[in-house]
Amino acid sequence: MLIVMKKGATENQIQAAVAAVKKRGYTARPIPGGDRVSIGVLHNKGSVDAAHFLGLDGVKEVIPVTKPYKLVSREFKQENTQVKIGEAVFGNGTMPVIAGPCAVESQKQVLAIAKAVKAAGAKIFRGGAFKPRTSPYSFQGLGKKGLEYLTRVREETGLCVVTEVMDVDTFDMVEESADLIQIGTRNMQNFSLLRRAGMSKKPVILKRGMSAMLQEWLMAAEYIMEGGNVNVILCERGVRTFVRHSRNTLDLSVVPAVKKESHLPVIVDPSHAAGVRDQVFSLACASAALGVDGIMVEVHDHPEEALSDGAQSLYPGQFADLMEKMAAIRTIIEAP
Ligand code: PEP
Ligand code: MN
Repeated sequence: MLIVMKKGATENQIQAAVAAVKKRGYTARPIPGGDRVSIGVLHNKGSVDAAHFLGLDGVKEVIPVTKPYKLVSREFKQENTQVKIGEAVFGNGTMPVIAGPCAVESQKQVLAIAKAVKAAGAKIFRGGAFKPRTSPYSFQGLGKKGLEYLTRVREETGLCVVTEVMDVDTFDMVEESADLIQIGTRNMQNFSLLRRAGMSKKPVILKRGMSAMLQEWLMAAEYIMEGGNVNVILCERGVRTFVRHSRNTLDLSVVPAVKKESHLPVIVDPSHAAGVRDQVFSLACASAALGVDGIMVEVHDHPEEALSDGAQSLYPGQFADLMEKMAAIRTIIEAP
């Protein structure tokens, strides 16, 4: 259930409504909106009687929420959520681009790639210090050292950094170093990790699970929001299908479907969907044409020597061309 306060409702009226919700044994979660505050009612076991709240001062209306997910849903919040990281805003109609290698390999490597992607217009640098690899024999990431290299990237380039967190044990360390925390595909339903992310003050990118339905993905985001972290960005990165011509199948149709169901920003990672460099360019352009809230692309200056995902990493020159092309596409779709 959602309690919608009147425009200009006072803080006292909002607090009185919160107290009324708590008195009944439910959780109250105020959601600041553009011009009015709403209060989400959570943890109710059956239906809640609207009459308890309708008569309170400052309450405009009480709306039942029919979806299983609540805080992430458009029923709860009509306007788009904007997530700000440095000068990048996800969800305000711009399309910040996140770029960098799959894995942090050395200080020299991340600095060189960060400078190149920054010059091309990327707003956030990506690089995994803890890598979830299919094989235990593959490069697992530099761990803490990798986080230190990312810190230096921020200091030298001014770019914000995003890196993946793989487990609760290393969460504190990642949280301290990252401006934006990534929860990967393989962990989309790691509920203890989602709960820990819910307690974080840092924004979170939640990648879609390998074969997750939209509802499961949104429910995973609900875990983070339920914990109190409202800064969640959803990332479509391709789902597992029967095809062999690409690593995964980029599900672009999920973008408008998410937009209808949720107010959260949604970005696209064409790199992990494609798995091969020559498909990344067109998938990124198609994503830009859809009006996504951001793009995440893997870029490597020596992809043939990369320790992870070299085949799908763009050369810096290709990335710069892609940035120009996407900017041109955006001007077309933004034209009145
Ligand atoms: C990554 O971003 O490097 C990554 C491992 O992505 P995903 O979780 O989408 O496979
Ligand atoms: Mn990768």
